[in-house]
Amino acid sequence: MLRFLARILKYFPGYVAGATAKEAINVVKGLNKKGIRAQINILDEEVTSVAHAQKAAQEYCHLLDNINAHQLDACISVKLTHLGLSLPEKGREVCVSNMHQILKKARSFSMFVWVDMESSEYNQTILDMVLELNTYYDNMGLAMQAALFKSRKDVALLCKRQIPIRLCKGAYVELKHISHQSKKDISNSFKDLIVFVLLRGRSPAIATSADEEIIEFTKHMVGKYKILKSLFEFQMLLGRRKSLQKRLVKQGYQVRVYVPYGVHYLPYIKRRLMEIKRNLTQL
Ligand SMILES: Cc1cc2nc3c(=O)[nH]c(=O)nc-3n(C[C@H](O)[C@H](O)[C@H](O)COP(=O)(O)OP(=O)(O)OC[C@H]3O[C@@H](n4cnc5c(N)ncnc54)[C@H](O)[C@@H]3O)c2cc1C
Repeated sequence: MLRFLARILKYFPGYVAGATAKEAINVVKGLNKKGIRAQINILDEEVTSVAHAQKAAQEYCHLLDNINAHQLDACISVKLTHLGLSLPEKGREVCVSNMHQILKKARSFSMFVWVDMESSEYNQTILDMVLELNTYYDNMGLAMQAALFKSRKDVALLCKRQIPIRLCKGAYVELKHISHQSKKDISNSFKDLIVFVLLRGRSPAIATSADEEIIEFTKHMVGKYKILKSLFEFQMLLGRRKSLQKRLVKQGYQVRVYVPYGVHYLPYIKRRLMEIKRNLTQL
């Protein structure tokens, strides 16, 4: 299966910036030239040793140094299970300590750190950890998944705490007692939450790579409520709909592209493949 997926990667050129930070930095330079911001992610998740999680934190700190040295218009996006959250023993402790390191370093450069939301298994722990870290740092934001029923309550809480939200559909297959299943229900939930974060959130991000209906809806709400284009951003994935990214920049919207790199790309590519499959079967 893994070999099959690795072979499939060849057919998705551009989804991953490359194997190294240097390659990712070059991709970001190209995006910045087009007026597009970036958020860089080191691909890996659910690590199984403390050493691996600590190495991830060091790699992120080094990446922040690099972003600063190259004066890029970029931030980072991390997965807490890459930083130790899923370790069977002391996972939370290890992850919190790693996040302190990263957030402190990012703050010293006035840089922002996005936290990806992972599968529902980790959802509440990730939310709790972000709420806890926010008492020390305000340079962080969290992704929220429109597909999950609980997101409505969580989005309200994050808005109340003025923690920036990246709103997305949700990349994980979740059970029907906790999440919307149909394209229409996910889309309706996404739209409800978009209005909520645009009106009550701090610097919200609307994350969709391909859904023009969602993008047009957002633009419409921004016009209706007279929201400044500088107060929110569209976030998209590397390798998808480049012309759409360009068009949005031309129209004066802020666009940030998610730039993943590294050798542990299989789970990421697998999620992108699942989205394509979902689109084909739901059309
Ligand atoms: C920046 C960013 C960060 C994310 N972070 C997270 C996260 O932290 N946690 C998480 O769970 N998920 C995350 N996601 C993934 C997200 O939840 C979705 O799984 C993913 O974005 C797919 O949904 P979509 O809205 O991009 O578009 P899709 O659902 O892939 O597509 C929507 C519709 O657009 C149309 N379409 C698709 N491709 C094309 C095309 N080439 N041309 C024309 N029309 C097309 C089809 O009608 C399709 O139904 C993130 C996504 C982005 C963009």
